[in-house]
Amino acid sequence: MTSTMQITEIPVPGYERVVKAVDAAAGLHAIIAIHDTTLGPALGGLRMWPYANEQEALTDVLRLSKGMTYKSAVAHTGLGGGKAVILGDPSRKSEALYLAMGRFIDSQGGKYVTAEDVNTSIADLQIVRRATRWVTGLDRKDGGSGNPSPYTAYGVYLGIRAALGQCVGSDEVKGRVVAIQGVGAVGSALARRLVEAGAKVYAADVNHERLQKHAKEIGVIPVQDAEVLSMACDVFAPCALGAVLNDKTIPNLRCKAVAGAANNLLHEPRHGAQLKERGILYAPDYVINAGGIINVGCEYLPGGYDEKESLRRIERIPKALKELWLIAKQQGIPASEAADHLAEQILAEARKTRPARR
Ligand code: NAD
Repeated sequence: MTSTMQITEIPVPGYERVVKAVDAAAGLHAIIAIHDTTLGPALGGLRMWPYANEQEALTDVLRLSKGMTYKSAVAHTGLGGGKAVILGDPSRKSEALYLAMGRFIDSQGGKYVTAEDVNTSIADLQIVRRATRWVTGLDRKDGGSGNPSPYTAYGVYLGIRAALGQCVGSDEVKGRVVAIQGVGAVGSALARRLVEAGAKVYAADVNHERLQKHAKEIGVIPVQDAEVLSMACDVFAPCALGAVLNDKTIPNLRCKAVAGAANNLLHEPRHGAQLKERGILYAPDYVINAGGIINVGCEYLPGGYDEKESLRRIERIPKALKELWLIAKQQGIPASEAADHLAEQILAEARKTRPARR
């Protein structure tokens, strides 16, 4: 197919590069945001979403790419932060669309590296890979690190143990009560680990069929969608949506800690302070859910992907959380704020010796 792709730069202060591509023949309308490459290439998933307009897509991709910079900084993945979004109806995906997206990614010369995200599957990424080498998270047989979800779940499990240690004085899971919202790829793998370790696990999922399946196969105790947000438990583990911690939900929480996989859990930064006021320990989302990006980052090891090294790095998540909780306590600030400060500090230090590749 003859390419009709038009790539234009969108100047955004604080971002290294934001570019938009329109390829009418392939039906592509997409944005790549490269927030920061001080620590390495800007890695972040490719999302497809029926945004109402380009401004909405831009807002989303900017927020997500900055979040990736912070997540990778604190997790020491050796990567920077970026993200890409395709504007469109996910039910109308095509090969031509993903090939065009691959060409768009390739035009950035490796500054942006893509991965799976909402509405982008491994099969879609395999098409993207035909047009660019800057793709991670492909199947092991295709030279990738595979599905990141079990690694994210492992990190969240370790983070929950650390949170228990902080709240109840022991990281022993046996006999503890955990409420999980969303038993999809990450939530179900997390539930399995918790149940196997002897926890009592309650779970809610809008997909009732999936929930029943996991009740049978894993042994989670199903609860209503709304109930999971206000039930008495040791740990509430949100593994579904963002913005779950808000003015409406926080007053009703009856947990000692919130520690889950979902991104952007705080509706607004001030909700971190609201949790603190309620005496609820918070495991900052991008710190506890970094297992997947840590695993993907291990594709960049000098000798290639190494699972043992990946697990070793994921096992540092509890230490990172404990350090943040300590800083938060010493400075009297919410843990979410302590995480942002730490990410900014790591980036500032790195910039002194390694200016961002522009
Ligand atoms: P998924 O789509 O496989 O699972 C999400 C589950 O949540 C689904 O079963 C869905 O039915 C359920 N759900 C949606 N809305 C709900 C609601 N209102 N109440 C209860 N359940 C609801 O996604 P995933 O890959 O498991 O990721 C879960 C979360 O973790 C997402 O927010 C994702 O951004 C984040 N995350 C995932 C990874 C990863 O490696 N997959 C890494 C970091 C962060």
